[in-house]
Amino acid sequence: MHKYEKIEKIGEGTYGTVFKAKNLETMEIVALKRVRLDQDDEGVPSSALREICLLKELKHRNIVRLHDVLHSERNMTLVFEYCDQDLKKYFDTCGGVIDQQVVKSFMYQMLKGLQFCHNHNILHRDLKPQNLLINKNGELKLADFGLARSFGIPVRCYSAEVVTLWYRPPDVLFGAKLYSTSIDTWSAGCIFAEMTNAGAPLFPGNDVDDQLKKIFKLLGTPTEQSWPGLTKLPDYKPFPPYPPNSMWYHVVPQLSAEGRDLLAQLIIVNPNKRMLADEALQHQYFADFAT
Ligand code: AMP
Repeated sequence: MHKYEKIEKIGEGTYGTVFKAKNLETMEIVALKRVRLDQDDEGVPSSALREICLLKELKHRNIVRLHDVLHSERNMTLVFEYCDQDLKKYFDTCGGVIDQQVVKSFMYQMLKGLQFCHNHNILHRDLKPQNLLINKNGELKLADFGLARSFGIPVRCYSAEVVTLWYRPPDVLFGAKLYSTSIDTWSAGCIFAEMTNAGAPLFPGNDVDDQLKKIFKLLGTPTEQSWPGLTKLPDYKPFPPYPPNSMWYHVVPQLSAEGRDLLAQLIIVNPNKRMLADEALQHQYFADFAT
C-alpha cells in the first residue's frame, strides 16, 4: 500500500470507497477501490480472489484497466486506471442537451467493451451510468466488470443504500438465476435511451413491482406464449395484461429511425430474443459511424 499515495476520496461505490491516488513509483494517477468485506467472513474468499486476478488480463480500450489487486487478511484493494468522470456526472453537466453523434460514439464504445467481455465469458450484471467512465478525449470505459460474479449481484451498496433496479431486465427481476449476456444488453438498451434523452432514465422504478410495471406498460406484459418458461421463474407473479404501446418511440424523440430499431431489439422482454452485443455492433444505426 505504501506504493500509493491517496489524493482524495472520489465516491462510495457498490463495493466500497473509491479514492484518487498516485503510484509513487511511476507517478501515474490511479483509482483505488477498497472492497469492504463482511466482518464475520473469513477475509477474501479465495474464489473471488482467483476470479479478480483473472480480470487483470482483460485488456481493452473500452474496459477500465485493473492494474493490480492488493490484499491483506481483512481487506482487498483494487487498483484501476483513473478516469475523469462517469456518465451520470456527464449528464449533470450537459444541461438537458446532448449531441446525438456523441450518443452514437458512447453507445458504440459501450457495445465494443461488452462484446469483448462477453467473448471472454465475463458478464457485468450491474451496468449503469455510474460505472461507465469517460475520459477528457471522449473515450468511454466500462468499470466493475466481473465484480458481481465474485461478490454476488449487488443488492445494497457499501453505504447501505439500495442499488438501483432501473437497468435490470425482467428475467432478473423475476428471480432468474441463470444469467447470460442478455442481462447486459438490456442494461445497454436502457442506458442508450437515457443517453439520447440527456440523462432522463427510461424505467425509473421504485421497487421490483414498480420496475416491472413500468417495463410492461411500455413493451407489453409477456405471456407464456411470447416467453416460454416465464411463469416458472422463481419470483414470477402475474401482472395486468398491458398491451405494447405502439407509440413507445415517443419516449425517445431525439432518436433516428435506425436508433429506435436498435433500441427496440435491445429491450426485448424475452431474454432469449434480445439482441447480442456482436449483432448490435453490425446494426444499421452505426452505418455512418467512422471509428
Ligand atoms: P463504483 O464502485 O464503480 O460505483 O464507483 C463509485 C464512483 O467512483 C463512480 O461513480 C465513479 O465516479 C468513481 N470511480 C470509480 N472507478 C473510477 C475510476 N477508475 N476512475 C475514476 N473514478 C472512478
